[in-house]
Formats: sequence, structure tokens, C-alpha cells
Amino acid sequence: MLETDYLIIGTGALGMGFADQLLTDTEASLLLVDKHHMPGGHWNDAYSFVRLHQPSAFYGVGSRELGSNRIDATGINAGFYELASGPEVQSYFDRLMRERFLPSGRVRYFPLCEYNGESSFTSLLSGQTQVVKVNKRIVDATYFNTSVPSTRPPQYAVDEGVTLITPNALPRHVGGHTRYTVIGGGKTGMDVCVWLLLNGAPPESLRWIAPRDSWLINRETTQPGDLFYSRFLGAKAAQLEASANAKTIDNLFEMLEESRQLLRLDRSIKPQMYHGATIAPAEIELLATIPDIVRLGRVRAIGRDRIDLDNGCVQASADDLYIDCTASAIARRPNRPVFEGSTITLQMIRAGLFSFSAAVIGHVEASYGSDAEKNHLCLPMQAPDEAADWLRLMLAENEILARWGADKSLRHWIAGHRLAGASLRDPAAPEEPEIAGIRARIRTAGGAAANNLQALLASLD
Ligand SMILES: Cc1cc2nc3c(=O)[nH]c(=O)nc-3n(C[C@H](O)[C@H](O)[C@H](O)COP(=O)(O)OP(=O)(O)OC[C@H]3O[C@@H](n4cnc5c(N)ncnc54)[C@H](O)[C@@H]3O)c2cc1C
Repeated sequence: MLETDYLIIGTGALGMGFADQLLTDTEASLLLVDKHHMPGGHWNDAYSFVRLHQPSAFYGVGSRELGSNRIDATGINAGFYELASGPEVQSYFDRLMRERFLPSGRVRYFPLCEYNGESSFTSLLSGQTQVVKVNKRIVDATYFNTSVPSTRPPQYAVDEGVTLITPNALPRHVGGHTRYTVIGGGKTGMDVCVWLLLNGAPPESLRWIAPRDSWLINRETTQPGDLFYSRFLGAKAAQLEASANAKTIDNLFEMLEESRQLLRLDRSIKPQMYHGATIAPAEIELLATIPDIVRLGRVRAIGRDRIDLDNGCVQASADDLYIDCTASAIARRPNRPVFEGSTITLQMIRAGLFSFSAAVIGHVEASYGSDAEKNHLCLPMQAPDEAADWLRLMLAENEILARWGADKSLRHWIAGHRLAGASLRDPAAPEEPEIAGIRARIRTAGGAAANNLQALLASLD
């Protein structure tokens, strides 16, 4: 029988990030199981032109940089830290497995294997089932159940003769269509529209079916390092001040937009959605050139000459190309305790920072005693969906940062961790008067922000 200290199910960003931290902080043995044939989780199924939406500087695992920390000089992301492409992320996790995990002698990796529960897994190739004796914990790194268009069939009817593809197939299908109909208002839909426009599709040739408009994080506010530090800290101050002073939720979003924390496509439309997607202002400008945005709810059926939606229908023609971008990416599942007896369920514990969340959970597992103590430092946050979730995440962030701040050794560990996000800067950097001023604004707004956000959320009930 196989034996290990930790059995980790899933080798996506979360499973790999957690395992990497345990390799750094402990002497434990790890056994990793995944249905995919390579590590990297959903990145194995992604479209070829996918990129991170946040800087590579704080994605991946703690022990290894992703990319070369360059600021892009050209293109839609010019002026911002580089965003790894899907193939780069895949290669990063593959090399991590081959160059660090396996040579450590403490990791065994079982790709192409499905976990059955009860510490057993079955090879998808041979059908052989193996049972594992687990000395410490079983780690569920599948909880987000990430779904991308290439792995999920469309949830609407499609008539024969209609050409519907996923973004993965788009580069091979570009010719011979007078109209490109992009279905899905989330980040994948935006990526596809931007890709088509950048590759020369006239805006008039695009139809974008976006059931809900979205509030989007302005990439200007998420840049790491000394160069952007005052901008990053200023953004935090502006968010807290808006949270402290807003009279209503609508007023809060107006203030966040006014200070350029959040962006939206069309100022005349109130977004209902917030998924934490990050976007460059230049992308918004491009998307705003699309004249035909259909806001009639979700697609129910696509016929050769019409599209039926929840709230109406639009005409179509037989040579339209449809690109399905409706998969939800990260599942919105109820929070559960991260540490529970013999299991650990990896979840997001810092808003939008998945890699960092996995690393913190690994570090806390390695360094703290009881589950109660560990759970106190690892409060799960549900993936956001509706606009009001911005407020809920802000409250959760305030709570977790206060808990981490009260723990001196954890605070010190976080301060030096590459995945900590934009808040990271060179500790030797001088504290300019401008920075001290922004910190004072943050201190002043902090308490009032939490109270006001709670009151605003209560007004929804
Ligand atoms: C397009 C896109 C861009 C993103 N960009 C960013 C970004 O810029 N910054 C950021 O922080 N986050 C980003 N994210 C989010 C982040 O990359 C991950 O999606 C998130 O962390 C979830 O990763 P995961 O490891 O939980 O899931 P997954 O990547 O889905 O990995 C889970 C793994 O578990 C395996 N599995 C599931 N069930 C079983 C089973 N029964 N047996 C065996 N194996 C199983 C699956 O095969 C899969 O490989 C992005 C997400 C998407 C979709």
C-alpha cells in the first residue's frame, strides 16, 4: 500500500502552491493525484491566447518566480507588469514538478488518476486502483471546480448547421464569417472580443451577448513593487474612504469609479456582476467600440436565423460564427473550514490572490498547532458573483488582515513572500512623506469603512 504524510488531490495553482510551501517549511512526504496528464489544472484546457489577468509577479508558487518581472513596453498591457500566457503557466508548473518537486525525493506524482474518495484513486489509463495510507491529512485542491469553455458543453440548444466553437478553436476558424457572436459577459468573453479586435476584426463584425455588465478592477491599482507603491497604497486609501463615506451602495460604486478603482464598459448601465476580474483601461476602450452588445439575458437557443434569449430574440444569419464563453471559471461554493480533522480544503483566503492563499494555508499548516488556531488565520472567502460581493470581500479582507497583523511572526513571513501581491515592496525602501500621508488616510478610514459597509449590506435585506 502507498503511504504518505499528505495526499493532495489536484495539481492546479492551489494544490501546487500548497505543496510547494510544505516542501519549504517541513520534511513531510507528499503524494499528488490529478486527472490531468500534466500539472497546472485548468491551464491545461485553456485557449492559446489566454493570459493571467494579474501580474505574473504574484502568481504561481512561493519558491519560484514566474516570468522575468518585466514591465510591458508594447501592446494592450503597456506600462504594467507582464502577464504570463497560458503556455507559460503550463510550462512553469511542469518544470516545477520536474525540477523541484520530484527531485526532492519527497513527492510522488500520479497524473491521469481520478480520486475516488476514501484515500483511493484509479488510473484513467490502466484502471488500476490504489489505496493510500495517509499519516497526516488529505488535501482537497479541487474545491473551486474550475470550469472553462473547452471542458463544459454549452447550456443552451444549438440547431444543426450553426457553427459554435470554444475559444480554443477560434484561431483556426477566423476566416469566412461576416459576424462573430461572442456569448458570455465574463473575462473569457472580453478576452475573445479583445483578441478579435486586435487581430483586425472590424468592431461592426462583432456581436457580444453579455447578460450582465460587470464591475472590473482597474489594473493600474494592482501593480506591485516600489515603482507603483504609492499608487497601490493610494488605491487602498481611496477604497477605504469610499467605503467609509458612501451613503448607498450605488453611491459607493460611483465613488470607486470616480477614483478609478473600478471600471465598467458603459457608464449608463449599472453593473450587476463582480467577479474580481482585472482589466487594463486600454481593453475597456477597445471593448467600448463594439456597437452590437446584446443585453437580453442568457441565450436559450441558437437557430440558423435567430437567437432566443431570456428576454427576447435577435436575428442571426447562417454564416455567423458563435464562440461559447459561458463557463463560469471558478465555482461559487459555500465556505467550509479550511482545517477539519483529517482534511484540508484549499480555498481563497485573500481576495483574488489564489496562489498566495494556498501558500499561506501551507505555511499555517506547517507552523501552527490546533485546527482552531489555524482556522483563525485562514478564513475562507467565497468567490464573488454579484456587485454587492465587492463589499463582502472588502469586509473579509479587513478582518483577515487584522488577524494577520496581530500575529508578529506571520506578519513577518508575509512581508517577505513573493506571492503577497501588490502590497509587497523592498523593505529597505525609504518611507517617503507621501507614503506616510497615505498610511494616515488608511488608518483614519479603516474602522469607519467596516461599520459603513456592514450597514450598507444590511440595507439589502
Ligand atoms: C482564465 C483564467 C485566468 C486566471 N488568472 C488569474 C490570475 O491572473 N491571478 C490569479 O491569482 N488567479 C487567476 N485565475 C484563478 C486561478 O488560476 C485558478 O483558477 C484558481 O486558483 C483555482 O485553481 P485550482 O487549483 O483550485 O483549480 P484547477 O486549476 O481547476 O485545478 C484543480 C485540479 O484538480 C483536478 N481534479 C478535480 N477533481 C479531481 C479528482 N476527483 N481526481 C483527481 N483530480 C481531480 C483537476 O483535474 C484539476 O487539474 C485565473 C483563472 C482563469 C480560469
